[in-house]
Amino acid sequence: MAEFTLELNDDQKQVRDWLHGFAADVIRPAASEWDEREETPWPVIQEAAKVGIYSLDFYAQQYFDPTGLGIPVAMEELFWGDAGIALSIVGTGLAAVGVLANGTEEQIGTWIPQMYGDADDVKLAAFCSSEPDAGSDVASMRTRAVYDEAKDEWVLNGTKTWATNGGIANVHVVVAVVDPELGSKGHASFIVPPATPGLSQGQKFKKHGIRASHTAEVVLEDVRIPGSCLLGGKEKLDERLARARERARSGGERVKNAAMATFEASRPAVGAMAVGTARAAYEVALDYAKTRSQFGRPIIDNQGIAFQLADMRTRIDAARLLVWRASWMATAGKQFTSAEGSMSKLFASETAKSVTAQAVQILGGNGFTREYPVERMHRDAAIYTIFEGTSEIQRLVIARTLSGMPIR
Ligand SMILES: Cc1cc2nc3c(=O)[nH]c(=O)nc-3n(C[C@H](O)[C@H](O)[C@H](O)COP(=O)(O)OP(=O)(O)OC[C@H]3O[C@@H](n4cnc5c(N)ncnc54)[C@H](O)[C@@H]3O)c2cc1C
Repeated sequence: MAEFTLELNDDQKQVRDWLHGFAADVIRPAASEWDEREETPWPVIQEAAKVGIYSLDFYAQQYFDPTGLGIPVAMEELFWGDAGIALSIVGTGLAAVGVLANGTEEQIGTWIPQMYGDADDVKLAAFCSSEPDAGSDVASMRTRAVYDEAKDEWVLNGTKTWATNGGIANVHVVVAVVDPELGSKGHASFIVPPATPGLSQGQKFKKHGIRASHTAEVVLEDVRIPGSCLLGGKEKLDERLARARERARSGGERVKNAAMATFEASRPAVGAMAVGTARAAYEVALDYAKTRSQFGRPIIDNQGIAFQLADMRTRIDAARLLVWRASWMATAGKQFTSAEGSMSKLFASETAKSVTAQAVQILGGNGFTREYPVERMHRDAAIYTIFEGTSEIQRLVIARTLSGMPIR
């Protein structure tokens, strides 16, 4: 019989403890400052690069952990430190995974090193899919990529929005429409190399939370890139488009909305980030409840407070189990027949929102001030139910997967 365990192995424990040390010693002490500055924390990213946390090697090691738990364990610890700074550290990974998943070996070897730079000259990357009129509804994307055969170049035009590291990245990965008739099946991903003319940063957003992470519009005006910047190459794209056209003609498989169908495998990682933020707020609230006295006794002596903490911890552990299940399934090649990836992201992100709100309440007036970290954690937690598919979209994906019905 196969051995079943939920215990991390020695290597995983070692990585977890090492990341926890970095989160506690470097990230958490810097969190308030960078939240107030609302700027990318370059010195912290550089520190992470120096110790090897900000690097493709580290990310790949966790990504290829055979149990699937490398990424969720890493995300939980880094986001326990601080969500905004941690997103600045792992944001490049989102673009890098796009290249790893769709790029040729040559593209991977050329572009991923330029996304990270090195410890003396740190670089960032951005993944640009969302647009002003195409958020949850990815199929309504308008950014166009047109092939100029004579020059073997692609020409990109459009406006991307909400791009993490958008405009300040060395390398941008841009999703664009190559065949508008095919909905999201007519999309392709492109590398925009450093300093390409025509790519500029639009508005930088002033945000409610994760303020140490840079979020901005990316404007593409006649951006010309070599044919070699199409991820996966032209031959593969032509074959894929021909298959999609054939299916559309024969009335076969419906052309699905990408927001409903993709990202299922990356969602547990966002769930793990949410678990990290929730755990951080819970720990602060637990300590506070044990030390703050009112009516002559610690406030945790009241069931009204103690039961809240019991519920908070139970939900956090349940969220982690859903995240670990989905991460294990993705790595083991199991099909998400019940949208388990979406389930994990939905439950963990809603948990982070509710647990951080309870933490603010348990700290009373102090919870409402910037003197204590739960105020920031509560603002940060709000992102998890929005990006990588909102909670409503997760519910749609789950309900459609379970029922097979086109629920709207
Ligand atoms: C800080 C931040 C960082 C981000 N980083 C990136 C990034 O790096 N790259 C990138 O490409 N994108 C990024 N995003 C974009 C993010 O993925 C989108 O914001 C998200 O997909 C939601 O799209 P939207 O904001 O347009 O909301 P909308 O799609 O307009 O949704 C608005 C509301 O309507 C609801 N809704 C929409 N459709 C339905 C439906 N069919 N049924 C029920 N309810 C529905 C939504 O759930 C939501 O509550 C980021 C966003 C933020 C805020």
